[in-house]
Amino acid sequence: MIGIYDINDFKNIDFKIRLETYKKVGFSSIGLYIDDKYMNKNENYENIIKFAIKIGLQVNQVHVDYKISNEICENTQKYLDYVEEKLLFCKKYEIKNMVLHASKGSNPPKVNDDQLKKLISLAKRYPEVNLSFENVRNNYNLEKILNLNQPNITLCYDIGHANAYNSSYLLNKYKNKISCAHLHNNYGNDDHNLLSNGNINYRKVINILSSINCDCCLEVFPDKNFPQTMDFFVNFISRASDDYIWRNWTIRKTNFKNHALNLQPTYFNLIKNKEKTLEGRLNDEKRKHYVKKDKYG
Ligand SMILES: [Zn+2]
Repeated sequence: MIGIYDINDFKNIDFKIRLETYKKVGFSSIGLYIDDKYMNKNENYENIIKFAIKIGLQVNQVHVDYKISNEICENTQKYLDYVEEKLLFCKKYEIKNMVLHASKGSNPPKVNDDQLKKLISLAKRYPEVNLSFENVRNNYNLEKILNLNQPNITLCYDIGHANAYNSSYLLNKYKNKISCAHLHNNYGNDDHNLLSNGNINYRKVINILSSINCDCCLEVFPDKNFPQTMDFFVNFISRASDDYIWRNWTIRKTNFKNHALNLQPTYFNLIKNKEKTLEGRLNDEKRKHYVKKDKYG
């Protein structure tokens, strides 16, 4: 099973309840922002991480502030100090991937060689953490940085961004540099829909991602003006998990090995509701019932 980015848009649901819910529906890890700017009132990312670890959820990727991304191009120490502070934090909690953006907007400044040298020396001082740069709207700086070939400077492949910003070529081009991924769907805009809601052939992408050693996290957000209720939250998380488990990966990986499954959604629902088995027959209770009532009985 994969992870899910903590959805703290539900302002009145305590983080402990959110995390318990992710665990209950089957997610194995969480991702989250490690910056106060992105925190709800009275919540603290360090406490969230401690609680996740306590209840057995892994934290394999965290995200730093993306709003300051163009500062990567400024010849000052400020941005690098920020990155180093966050790297130290990741090291402390043994978090493998620190996700950041190499630019913001469609026409960002270009990163210069001097900054790139400083970035490499910083990465070298924290070999246990990947500086995982995510594909965004403009990927000029991203490619420059990936082409440095520093082992712990990696790609965080975001399948929704790749669809919205026509950059799915990055998947093959930098396949051996991907250390983590963000999964969501859309119809060409950066909407972060559930996997079942969009036009991305995400099965194909997930097949590729599953063939490499990569930490995958759903990064899905509810629609605007969603109800701030516990019911809606649980329902949303369950749908996120269902989309993933029943229509994709787990079944194929654990039961059908190399065979791709292309079953109708209704069939998945029958398996899920335990009315049919994975092998396609009715479950034993249903079978007994069925034999009694068939036309020869
Ligand atoms: Zn993302």
